[in-house]
Amino acid sequence: MRRVVVIGGGASGMLAALTAAEDAENRVVLLERQQRLGRKLLATGNGRCNLTNTAAAPARYHGAEADFVRPALEKFGPEETLAFFRRLGLLTVTEYGGRVYPLSDSANSVLDVLRFALDRAGVELRCACPAREIRRGKTGWTVVTDAGELAADRLVVACGGCAGAKLGGVKDGYELLAPLGHKRTKLFPALVQLRTAPEFPRALKGVRCPAALRLQSGEAVLAESEGELQFTETGVSGPAVFDVSRAAATGGEGLVLHIAFLPHPPEELDALLRERCAIFPALETGEVLTGMVHNRLGRMLVKYAGLNAAEPLRALGDADRAALIRTLKDFTLPVRGTEDFDHAQVTAGGIRTAGFDPETLESWFMPGLFVCGELLDVDGDCGGFNLQWAWSSGRLAGRLGR
Ligand SMILES: Cc1cc2nc3c(=O)[nH]c(=O)nc-3n(C[C@H](O)[C@H](O)[C@H](O)COP(=O)(O)OP(=O)(O)OC[C@H]3O[C@@H](n4cnc5c(N)ncnc54)[C@H](O)[C@@H]3O)c2cc1C
Repeated sequence: MRRVVVIGGGASGMLAALTAAEDAENRVVLLERQQRLGRKLLATGNGRCNLTNTAAAPARYHGAEADFVRPALEKFGPEETLAFFRRLGLLTVTEYGGRVYPLSDSANSVLDVLRFALDRAGVELRCACPAREIRRGKTGWTVVTDAGELAADRLVVACGGCAGAKLGGVKDGYELLAPLGHKRTKLFPALVQLRTAPEFPRALKGVRCPAALRLQSGEAVLAESEGELQFTETGVSGPAVFDVSRAAATGGEGLVLHIAFLPHPPEELDALLRERCAIFPALETGEVLTGMVHNRLGRMLVKYAGLNAAEPLRALGDADRAALIRTLKDFTLPVRGTEDFDHAQVTAGGIRTAGFDPETLESWFMPGLFVCGELLDVDGDCGGFNLQWAWSSGRLAGRLGR
């Protein structure tokens, strides 16, 4: 009998424990510091759990070693993951952009099928049991907990990152691994809201709209994205913002977010506005964008373009239309930074991947030690890519080098 201890009952740890338990030789114990498994998983995708993305590929992941994720994704990518969950009884639906959700629209479904599977596989669960220290012995490992010491022949560390602190994101994993010689890179929050000059976003708090974003440092374009944008008390949020947030966290000072609210070319917009003025000459200018963008946003853009909202549309001249089109196509917000780890969905940076064999996720210099999930220096784009890394890497680590 081989004793396997998995530290961390989140997405990657559950997959690692289930995989290890497929080998009848292994006796698997899963340690979780919180009262229950998968707390963060329940909060994913606004409670819907965007569990993977059909487009998951190495190009969608970031970290010091760009290709580190490749073997894990090739062995257990989105297709294999969905087949795995299907066998556990989970029905899913694929939505816009390849984002996959449970058909039930509830993250609970994902956690429930994993819990049932862990139970059936005979994995011993120890919740409210944080690992405090890892010691290396001559033949194996000792995991120190408040309830005593656990011996292990193979150890999987799956403690996650420090994003989403309110959901249990902690630095435990980095601290447990550092004495073993596995150090971390610099950490910073990713998939996170941007803090911007607040006046405009605050006035539009809660408004969501489609947009194309371009993050610039002077003339240099650092990142671009398209998708939903949401205005908040302190700046901007939403999937499109998350996609440029990594660049914003690392891009230094003086960044500017350029927003295009409509995809139409300027000439087409000009024709639309002329038509509107001709059909509704008596309508107030404040309503000129009503029907094209969110009403509140439209009125704000009119104000921002310097137009008199009370004047009738018949008074709108060529220069006014040009100012409005510039505002619609290139609205700029100075960026003041990102929100912190409490508000972030993922930790960028982590345990250095150079210390691990990408084919097995086993430590190069500590045989028998495996690390998976967000704890490693791997972070993915918004849209199911981070959970896919958790599943792929958990599956690979749980094979224990086989
Ligand atoms: C609000 C929010 C929404 C998100 N939505 C999505 C989404 O829709 N799609 C997507 O792909 N990704 C999403 N993510 C990211 C995704 O949840 C994570 O990348 C993923 O959960 C990482 O899995 P993990 O197993 O590495 O870590 P986690 O899921 O964080 O699991 C780590 C576990 O280890 C436990 N632990 C920590 N220290 C110890 C210790 N010392 N002893 C024992 N246990 C310990 C923790 O309590 C935790 O349960 C979201 C994240 C957040 C915060």
